[in-house]
Amino acid sequence: AFPPDVVSQAPEDPLFGLMAAYKKDTDSKKVDLGIGAYRDNNAKPWVLPVVKQADDRLRSDPDLNHEYLPIGGLAEFTAASQKLILGKNSPALSDKRVVSLQTVSGTGAVHLGSLFLSKFYNPSNADAKAIYVSSPTWANHNQIITNVHLPMKSYPYFSKETKGLDFDGMYGAIEQAPSGSVILLHACAHNPTGVDPTQDQWKKIAKVMREKKHFPFFDCAYQGFASGSLATDAWAINHFVEQGFELMIAQSYAKNFGLYGERAGCFHFVAAPSSSAQDEVARVGSQLAILQRSEISNPPAYGARIASLILNDEKLFAQWEEDLRTMSGRIKDMRKALKENLDKLQTPGNWDHITAQIGMFSFTGLNEQQVQKLREQSHVYMTKNGRISMAGLNTGNVEYFAKAVDGVVR
Ligand code: PLP
Repeated sequence: AFPPDVVSQAPEDPLFGLMAAYKKDTDSKKVDLGIGAYRDNNAKPWVLPVVKQADDRLRSDPDLNHEYLPIGGLAEFTAASQKLILGKNSPALSDKRVVSLQTVSGTGAVHLGSLFLSKFYNPSNADAKAIYVSSPTWANHNQIITNVHLPMKSYPYFSKETKGLDFDGMYGAIEQAPSGSVILLHACAHNPTGVDPTQDQWKKIAKVMREKKHFPFFDCAYQGFASGSLATDAWAINHFVEQGFELMIAQSYAKNFGLYGERAGCFHFVAAPSSSAQDEVARVGSQLAILQRSEISNPPAYGARIASLILNDEKLFAQWEEDLRTMSGRIKDMRKALKENLDKLQTPGNWDHITAQIGMFSFTGLNEQQVQKLREQSHVYMTKNGRISMAGLNTGNVEYFAKAVDGVVR
């Protein structure tokens, strides 16, 4: 029923393929810079101390059961998630113009939003029915959006020359997109480049999007993990809300709680301020619930319970902020150490971007052949596009990695 011309052999997911190759490598010096998950200074997964506390509390609760959550998820989790991403005093919350559903982590939130757009977004200008993603973007954006048959276009983002933001290219493409287009924006710690707009640039992006009546869809997978401050990392979203946009947000708790496999996330729809906003969120929420029901029925409970305990308890919340500073601080230290080692070796080229970029990832500027050589000669595993996960570096391997890079760029 499914011959090869109908169902061809799909290529392996490049990232998961990389992980498998790394596992197989028996060399003791091997370095994993592919993985998009935090590692401690011993290259080990890190259970956040605050998550351990919340988990212990949950496990000792005699009333804990395994019943279904409601379709929209755990109410205290979604309410706390709104406050976290929009700020406790957000006018959107006091106006009751936000509807939120718990999702299967950030991926599920991007999917739910894309599916909703595919089904319901019908701008008066039919050309505008497209979502613009940054070039490059998180590879899964392309698959998720294609799977729901939402037309996809792209805007320039990364400058190969400066290894920073191609602001003019980004701004120009947004300005030229048909009025009313959907623009997908990484809220902070852009994946894969590690390059974010400055606050001043965000203001300009918001202004032109307002003029063009574009619709923002924020993907926020690294709140608190990028700068170490939850508020700083949500600044762009809050600026857009202040400007009166109607928008959507995909929120992941994978990285900032280290709850990768627990799949805790949230999707938010924020209506623009108007007298009919509450009616709109009720209607939108009712349709989102139907989409959710048909796809996952109801979201997974355990990770959301852990996150909810922490988000709703002042003491645990403060401990979480400490843990976030530990993770983001170690990553910043590794950026500095890598740059210092390359400077010391007088490695050809300018490496300022290593410390200028932010978050889990860095676009090094290394090309595919150099990446290949690093793997063959030095057992360093990273994606073909030259992206490294900063979390894979530690005080034990950063010098080794810098020397390996020095070897392939000379
Ligand atoms: N969006 C971006 C930009 C990401 O980098 C990630 C994770 O790598 C996600 C969304 C979603 O991840 P998850 O589904 O694990 O929350």
